[in-house]
Amino acid sequence: MKNTEALRCLLCKKPKCSIQGCPVHTSVPECMQLYREDRLDEAGEILFDNNPLSAITSLVCDWRQFCFGNCVLHVKKMPVRWYQIEQEISERYLFTYRLKRKDNRLKGRRVALIGAGPVGIASAIWLYRAGANVTLFDSNERIGGVLRYGIPGFRLDKKFVNVYERMFEEAGITFQGGVRVGTDLTLAFLATRYDAVIIGAGAEKPATLQIPGEARSIQALPFLKNPNAYELGHHVIVIGAGNVAMDACRTAIRKGADTWIYYRKTYENMPANPIEVEEAQRDGVKIRIFQAPVQVNERSVVFCDCQNVTDPETGKVSTRILEGTEHEVPCDTLITAISEKPEYGVFTGSEPEWNEAGYPQLDENQKVSIPGIDNIYMAGDFILGASTVVQAVASAKTAVNAIINRFAQ
Ligand SMILES: Cc1cc2nc3c(=O)[nH]c(=O)nc-3n(C[C@H](O)[C@H](O)[C@H](O)COP(=O)(O)OP(=O)(O)OC[C@H]3O[C@@H](n4cnc5c(N)ncnc54)[C@H](O)[C@@H]3O)c2cc1C
Repeated sequence: MKNTEALRCLLCKKPKCSIQGCPVHTSVPECMQLYREDRLDEAGEILFDNNPLSAITSLVCDWRQFCFGNCVLHVKKMPVRWYQIEQEISERYLFTYRLKRKDNRLKGRRVALIGAGPVGIASAIWLYRAGANVTLFDSNERIGGVLRYGIPGFRLDKKFVNVYERMFEEAGITFQGGVRVGTDLTLAFLATRYDAVIIGAGAEKPATLQIPGEARSIQALPFLKNPNAYELGHHVIVIGAGNVAMDACRTAIRKGADTWIYYRKTYENMPANPIEVEEAQRDGVKIRIFQAPVQVNERSVVFCDCQNVTDPETGKVSTRILEGTEHEVPCDTLITAISEKPEYGVFTGSEPEWNEAGYPQLDENQKVSIPGIDNIYMAGDFILGASTVVQAVASAKTAVNAIINRFAQ
């Protein structure tokens, strides 16, 4: 046992860290006990079976919100750092693991996965282990989704993604890269060739600022996918204060730019994990709050001051732009990272039924209602909107279990 933190765990009978804190309900006390007894392979197997991406989630999860934040020892201000122990167990297990069939429940069944991000990777592993023949389709050339093409390498070493690529090749899981479903192939075609299909196509459609000159700005996701393709210049401003914005500004500063975040609200309103904000500031990123962009020029951006206004009746806080406060700030590159939504092009030719909120109509198994098609499921950011890796894995589990329950022999 390397990490003596494990000795502080109370091995709770009803562990809040797992039941309330973790979207995939990682079995913390059981694995903690095995760790104390140096039975790391057994602990690794339990973690991997439950969450095949545990080596990644233990690195990139906002643990303050999940396991650590729900540890019962919070009352003594000494929560247990389970995520460190999970990382140690999972990394060791992942890099020696060989994907094997576990049972034959889906023997002879064919499942197509659209998207090879966390949903696609976790689903492929669970379905393969249940005996299915699995094919992954992705518009990118390699597997990983945001893990490869979004989260920068200084936060997530790509060895954690490459290991799945090797694992799939060895196991004979087919990966069709560079294929965009909805353009190169239709959903209806896949629905007839496969027993079931899971759409895990993420949330790739960026929201726009809707201000004059916006075409002069660049979007954070394509920038993060290939930062070397961009000549940023010296003054870089990033609009937004979520995790994507933090990754964009930390990448820009590594390219030598003087990088600022301009945000229309205050620090407490920032959607990014506090740790990400701290790390960005430590890297040298500077932040200005209560600033809203109103126009993008060739080498500058015009901002207005803002203020938060509390509705006296509801207590709801909204942000108001203060007229007449326009001021010009020098800027060589403006990067926008305000939010991302799912892109529904995948449904081209097979229109789903839409619910009142404007999203595809799903049943409790995440099966989508498409007239004449009965075997398409959805998971991850494609239904949750921009969320987290562990939430995407949890959502994939619902769809996979539904497929296993439906087709198991
Ligand atoms: C920059 C950034 C940083 C993040 N940092 C963190 C973090 O630190 N911690 C955390 O927990 N979460 C983080 N997230 C969120 C997390 O990465 C996502 O919630 C997670 O990747 C969602 O998984 P997914 O499988 O649903 O989608 P994605 O990872 O988005 O994968 C979707 C895949 O589908 C493919 N695709 C899309 N449309 C089609 C189509 N029509 N045909 C074929 N393929 C298609 C895409 O190419 C992509 O590979 C971050 C997100 C971003 C963008």
